[in-house]
Amino acid sequence: MIAKLKIVFSFYLLAGAVLLLAGVDETFNLYNLPYILIAAGFIGLILLLLLNNKESSLLCRIGLHKYKRISQDSEVPALYVYSCERCGKQKKAASVA
Ligand SMILES: [Zn+2]
Repeated sequence: MIAKLKIVFSFYLLAGAVLLLAGVDETFNLYNLPYILIAAGFIGLILLLLLNNKESSLLCRIGLHKYKRISQDSEVPALYVYSCERCGKQKKAASVA
């Protein structure tokens, strides 16, 4: 169900962007249809993420984690372990600096 809705909203977003870029509104009078499609797709996707993910912070639910480096990976020295300050989600990544 959620996966299907994700596809539908992604399609809205894509269709809106294509209509906008293709300049279809110069030929046909679409009013604000491309913008409405983009907005609906975007809002729909964010709502899905908010409802679907269980992180306590709303920003974390839409994937905007606030990562902070906590330690170095024990097996691969080039990798660092990052942890989100809000939800505690961890990831490993190479050092940015
Ligand atoms: Zn987080």
